Amino acid sequence: MFHKILIANRGEIACRVIDTCRRLGVATVAVFSDADRDSRHVAMADQAVHLGGPAPADSYLRGDAIIAAALATGAQAIHPGYGFLSENPDFVDVVEAAGLVFIGPSARAIRAMGLKDAAKALMEQAGVPVVPGYHGDNQDAAYLADQAARIGYPALIKAVAGGGGKGMRRVDDPKDFVDALDSARSEARNAFGNPAVLIEKYVLQPRHIEVQVFGDGHRAVHLFERDCSLQRRHQKVIEEAPAPGMTAEMRRTMGAAATRAAEAIGYKGAGTIEFIVDGSDGLRPDRFWFMEMNTRLQVEHPVTEAITGVDLVEWQLRVASGEPLPAKQEDLTITGHAFEARLYAEDVPAGFLPATGRLAHLRFPEGARIETGVRQGDRVSPWYDPMIAKIVTHGATRAIALRALESALVDTEVAGSVTNLDFLIALTRHQGFRAGEVDTGLIGRDLDALVAAAAPDPRARALAVIGLAGLADPSPKGGATLWQPLRRTIAWEGGEAVLEVLGPGVARVTLEDTLHEVRWQSDRWWVDGDLRRNRIVGHDAGISVFGGRPVHLSPLDPLARETGPAGGGALTLSPMPGLVKSVHVTAGQAVSAGDRLAVLEAMKMEHALTAARDGVVAEVLARPGDQVEAGAPLIRLQDDEAAA
Ligand code: ADP
Repeated sequence: MFHKILIANRGEIACRVIDTCRRLGVATVAVFSDADRDSRHVAMADQAVHLGGPAPADSYLRGDAIIAAALATGAQAIHPGYGFLSENPDFVDVVEAAGLVFIGPSARAIRAMGLKDAAKALMEQAGVPVVPGYHGDNQDAAYLADQAARIGYPALIKAVAGGGGKGMRRVDDPKDFVDALDSARSEARNAFGNPAVLIEKYVLQPRHIEVQVFGDGHRAVHLFERDCSLQRRHQKVIEEAPAPGMTAEMRRTMGAAATRAAEAIGYKGAGTIEFIVDGSDGLRPDRFWFMEMNTRLQVEHPVTEAITGVDLVEWQLRVASGEPLPAKQEDLTITGHAFEARLYAEDVPAGFLPATGRLAHLRFPEGARIETGVRQGDRVSPWYDPMIAKIVTHGATRAIALRALESALVDTEVAGSVTNLDFLIALTRHQGFRAGEVDTGLIGRDLDALVAAAAPDPRARALAVIGLAGLADPSPKGGATLWQPLRRTIAWEGGEAVLEVLGPGVARVTLEDTLHEVRWQSDRWWVDGDLRRNRIVGHDAGISVFGGRPVHLSPLDPLARETGPAGGGALTLSPMPGLVKSVHVTAGQAVSAGDRLAVLEAMKMEHALTAARDGVVAEVLARPGDQVEAGAPLIRLQDDEAAA
C-alpha cells in the first residue's frame, strides 16, 4: 500500500478519497485553487499545495503543476477523482513518465473507450450488445440521414466525443434531421472540439442501467447494477441500486457482458459500463445495449458500496499499489437497497439555474451517508459544479430505503443559497417512482407537478415570520420564547406580514391577505390547527423553516433600505443588532428626508437613523431600551404615492 498519495481534485470526491486514505493510514496531499483556499478538502488533507487561479484551466487541469506537487511532497500516486483529469490519457502518460502511479486504468484503456464510436466497435467485437445504429467514419449529412432512415425513427444523434448529454439530439421526424444534425455538431464542436456524430436508434421507455466493474488489468468482476433512470435533460438526479424489477437472469447477462467488456481492454481499477435498456415490457435479457464506458469512479458509486459493503476507493488504492482483485465474483452479494440524491445549489423554478452563495446554515441528518465538500459558512462558488452534497440511504428493502431518503431530505437544512431540496423531496413522493416505474422520461413528463409541489408553503412562511420577529427560541430545542401581546409589521426581502401576538404562545400572522393562526402548544408548532414538524432556524442570513419544503426569509438589506423597492422608503430598519437609545418622532408627525428618527447603540457606537424621504410617521415600532435584531422595523412612514 502507498504511504502517501495526492488527490488531483476538489469538493466532495476529494474529501471522499481522503476518508478512505485515513482509514488505511495513507497520508494525503490536497491541491487547491484560489477559490478553494479555505475549503473542506484542504482542511482534511495532511498537506495541501496551491495550484493557481480559480478557473479549472489555471488549477485543477494543470497536469504539470499537479505532478510537480506530487513529486515535491513525496506522494507516490495520484488519485484523479472524477471530472477534470480523470479520463485524460495524456495525463496518465505524463504521470507515469514522472515515475508516479495513476490510480485508475491505463492510458490505452481510456483511449479505447474515449470516443463513443470506437468504443461501440470494440464492444461489438467482444460480443457485447450495442444499440443499433451507425458509428462509422462517413460524416456526410445525406449519408447520415439515410442511416437514420434505415435504423428507423425516432433516432438519436450523439457526439462521438460527447459527455454530460451535450451534442445529443432526438429526432422524431425525418424532415427535422438536418437541423438537428447541425445543432448537435456545433454543440459538439464547441464543447469537445470534435463535431463527429453517430446515429442510434432512440430506445423507447428507456432506462439507464449501468454496471460497476472492477479490474486488476487481467481479471474483472462486476459489482452489480445501478439504475440512473431518474434524469433531467440527461443528467442524473437520483440513483439507486439494485435496479427495480431486475431479474436474476438479466442481472447475470448484463454482469457477464460488462465483465467481458472490461476484460477485453485489460481494464484496471473502477469503471462503469452504461447500458440503455428498453423498459417498455419489463426488464428482458435481450433488451439492453451498451452505450459507453466511464473509465473512472462515478459520482453515484456510494449506492454500490452500500449494497455490497465494498469500499471502492480502498479497492482502487489496493489494485493500483499492485495487489490482485480483492474479491472473486462469487464472494460479491447484494444486501438491501440504496438511494443517492444529488443536492445542488440551483434555482429550480428558474429552470434549474446553477446558484451560488454562502451557506449561512448547513446541517445534515443523522442516519444517512453524506458526501460533501462544504461546511457551514463555505461558499458555493461560480467556478465549479454547484453540488452541495450527496445524500445516501440504505435499507433492507427499496421501500424502506426510499422512505429513509425522504426523511433524510426533509431533515437536511441548507440556507444561504437556493437548492433543489424541495424538488428532490417531491421526487421521493412521486407515485411512479415509489412504485419503481422509472424511465428517463419520468421527470420530464411530470416536471410541472414536481416543480409546483416544491412551491412555498404559506403555513411554513407564517412560522418564518414568527422566527423573523424573534419569537422562536433559537436553541436546538426550539419553541416559543416569552410572548407579550403586540401588533407589528414584519418585513423582509420581498414581502411583509402583520403579526399580532395575542398572548403566550398564540399569534396571528396575516400574509398576503390570509390570516394564519400560529400556536406553540404541547411543545410543538401548530398553524391553522395543523401540527407542524417544522424547525425554525435563525442564522446570519435570516430565518429558515425546515422540516418540509424549506422557507427562507432574509431581513431587508439595511443598506438598500433607502432606495429598495420593497420598503419604498416607508420603513426604517435597524441596520444591525443593537439597543434603541432614543426615539425622536411620534405617530402623525411630519418628517423630511434626512431627519433623525431614532438612535441605535450598537458595537459601542451610536448610530442616527434618518428618514429616507419626506413623509408622515404612521407607526413607531420601537421604544427606547428595546433590544432589536438586524432588519427589525423601527419606524414606518405612511404610504405616500408621491414618494414612490
Ligand atoms: P453522455 O456521455 O453525453 O452522458 P450517454 O451516451 O451516456 O451520453 O447518454 C446519456 C443519456 O441519454 C442516457 O442516460 C439516456 O437517458 C439517454 N440516451 C442515450 N442513448 C439513448 C438511446 N439510444 N435511446 C434513448 N435514450 C438514450
